[in-house]
Amino acid sequence: MSASALNLAPEQREAMGRVEGEARRLLALRGYLRAGREAASRWAWSRERIESYEKSPEYAAALAEIDKVRREFESANPGYTLRVNTQVRSLDEQLSKWNENDSVGRAGEELLGRAREQLAAPSYPDAPAASDVQRFERFLRGATTSATPTLAVPGLSPHGQSRAFDFQVMRGTQLIAGPSSPGEWDSSGWTEKVRAAVTRASTKFAGPLASPREPWHYDYRP
Ligand SMILES: [Zn+2]
Repeated sequence: MSASALNLAPEQREAMGRVEGEARRLLALRGYLRAGREAASRWAWSRERIESYEKSPEYAAALAEIDKVRREFESANPGYTLRVNTQVRSLDEQLSKWNENDSVGRAGEELLGRAREQLAAPSYPDAPAASDVQRFERFLRGATTSATPTLAVPGLSPHGQSRAFDFQVMRGTQLIAGPSSPGEWDSSGWTEKVRAAVTRASTKFAGPLASPREPWHYDYRP
């Protein structure tokens, strides 16, 4: 893992160093390897960048689009309101969620088990040459787990560049449907009701997210 991390961009290496536990670190490494060169342009904005974005016309335009969706939803579903967290998710927040999330822990442990089996093969020497590291990276990129992590790898969430929003259905102060169980969203009909409002009100959203399935998550394309 350390040999492979040396090939990452500095910001990814730094983020990996702040991930707790071998399993979660390995899962993060897989995400960075899969993202490849594209990762740099998707990297979470700095606090300064977030602050200046929040004063920009782009941010005001995003809020106006969200407001259109909210009004559409609320007129179609009397008594209910749509709440949206419009805050850009910083790298710090993405890291702390990654370090706590159960699905990340489960997928990470599974991946770690597979990686140990892979590295136990006699063809992997104790001191890996560059070609061994590359072979391990190929394995890791392609390795799948039955547990699906419900978070993007730290630094690479579209919430980190205000390119995604999560919707929540409320009735007064009561949370009716939040980012938790896709099954509940489907059975209670909110998946379709939110989709209908988003589609009717705006052309700037794409979604909901299919993999992992998150009926509340829409990508924003300004
Ligand atoms: Zn989301």
